[in-house]
Amino acid sequence: MEKKFIKMYQPKLNKVQIGRTQKEYFLDNKEKIMSQNKKRRLTIIEKHRKQLRENYHKAKEQRRAYAKEYWEKNKDKIKKKNTQIIKCLCGCEVSFRNRIKHRKTDKHKKNLKSIFNNNDLFNNRIQQETSKEIEC
Ligand SMILES: [Zn+2]
Repeated sequence: MEKKFIKMYQPKLNKVQIGRTQKEYFLDNKEKIMSQNKKRRLTIIEKHRKQLRENYHKAKEQRRAYAKEYWEKNKDKIKKKNTQIIKCLCGCEVSFRNRIKHRKTDKHKKNLKSIFNNNDLFNNRIQQETSKEIEC
């Protein structure tokens, strides 16, 4: 009953609306609640990021010590692996250590291009794909 009169007269001094459900409260204050939630969410995310950053810097020395210890234990194994000669797709022989750098070189790209251009299967596949695109 009181709720009905409050809705009818809309008094300015009554701050507490009696009998209002949670859903009604949410609908009345939707923008305010959403902005508060967003602000709260962003502060939590920022706090979490700050914590991660601090942990990263705290553990830096620990990681260095572990890497040094690992290097001392496995020095010979790592050196052997890095100097191992592997054969690239393009046909060049490169050391394991330089394989990623080699893949960025013009020589590697040029060799791969020539290999794929001379390959009939590859050419047929490209032609099929392009003809499909044209049909669509
Ligand atoms: Zn290569």
